[in-house]
Amino acid sequence: MPPLKPNPPSPDLPLLTDVRAEALDCPPYVAGLSIEEIQEKYNLSGVIKLASNENPLGCSILVKRALCRKAASAFRYPQSGSPKLHKAIADHFRVDPAQVVCGNGSDELIDLLIRIRAVPGTHNIVAFKPCFALYEIQARFAGVEFRQAPLKADFTFDMPALLALTDENTRLAFITTPDNPSGHCPPVEEIIALAQALPPACLLVIDEAYMDFCDDVARHSLFPRLAEFPNAVILRTFSKAYGLAGMRLGYAFAPVPLADALRRVRLPFSINLLAEAAGIAALQDTAFYETTLRAVAEGRDLLSHAFKKMNFTVYPSKANFLLMRPPYTARRFAEDLLARGIIVRWLTSYAMPDFIRISIGNAEENDRLCRTVAEMLHAARA
Ligand SMILES: *Cc1c(COP(=O)(O)O)cnc(C)c1O
Repeated sequence: MPPLKPNPPSPDLPLLTDVRAEALDCPPYVAGLSIEEIQEKYNLSGVIKLASNENPLGCSILVKRALCRKAASAFRYPQSGSPKLHKAIADHFRVDPAQVVCGNGSDELIDLLIRIRAVPGTHNIVAFKPCFALYEIQARFAGVEFRQAPLKADFTFDMPALLALTDENTRLAFITTPDNPSGHCPPVEEIIALAQALPPACLLVIDEAYMDFCDDVARHSLFPRLAEFPNAVILRTFSKAYGLAGMRLGYAFAPVPLADALRRVRLPFSINLLAEAAGIAALQDTAFYETTLRAVAEGRDLLSHAFKKMNFTVYPSKANFLLMRPPYTARRFAEDLLARGIIVRWLTSYAMPDFIRISIGNAEENDRLCRTVAEMLHAARA
């Protein structure tokens, strides 16, 4: 056998960039800045982060205890398929466990849905613009055409425009309700009409990452009537209302055959041992969950009122954040706040450079935010 000869290096195709064109074209996901980054950059202590819609109260004490109990088992593989967690979710929401699929964050479920439903180069996916960045990033990486219909000027949903983008090759339609970054939450009748009007081969994915914070779920979520819609999937997450963003745990309610297929293609241990224990414990602490919802609703009213009084345009929100247009440049507003140790989201990554999204904080954080902004505006006028 002749000795193996390495391929000569090609000057225009260095080895490390020799990846699929879709990967090179992929826009990176832009995450909120971390507290550590800002502490270092501005040499500040006591930085607060209101940029990633995390739970302002942290996580449940039952979760912390469950994590401690499980720590010594970290060397073990989790039980394949996390059946206990799936059963706990099914029991909690009173659905058939066969309809439940967990993922490493709902991010993993978004990616799996795209790959399991859409054939690269043939099928397409529709969503609104702007929308949660991951829908587009994962669609493009999968080599699937991504079509977007603009939201209306007030950030409500233009369903006819979305429907007009669909054809017989549309395999997924993503909507987010309450929507990110606007907080808009359409009445469920709008969702039902969309589900009924989509082409037969198109699955409607309803991303309800923030539905916990909606004060009137019955009027806004398709969940109670999901059984009537075999073309719809609902995504939920432990990242927001349950305070487990760092554990990476999301779940879907899906028609049984689709749920079954998703569980088969998911990586065997994508739900790690600690995430499984944390999810089960989080569902048990209904008091913490209720306290979170109350704190967010109160903080949302307080901030909405305070910022309107300071001449911000504040959009109605059913989520744990508020979309705002500051009375001066949004970029400068975000930078001024950063320099004072408060991280909010300047929405340039959503192609909305005139807007800011602020997560609802706890009482202390909200108070510091309001005082800081009042001081900034005062200084600007002086
Ligand atoms: C935060 C968020 C999620 C949740 O993502 P996880 O992967 O579960 O942390 C999903 N969709 C939208 C629109 C979000 O804003």
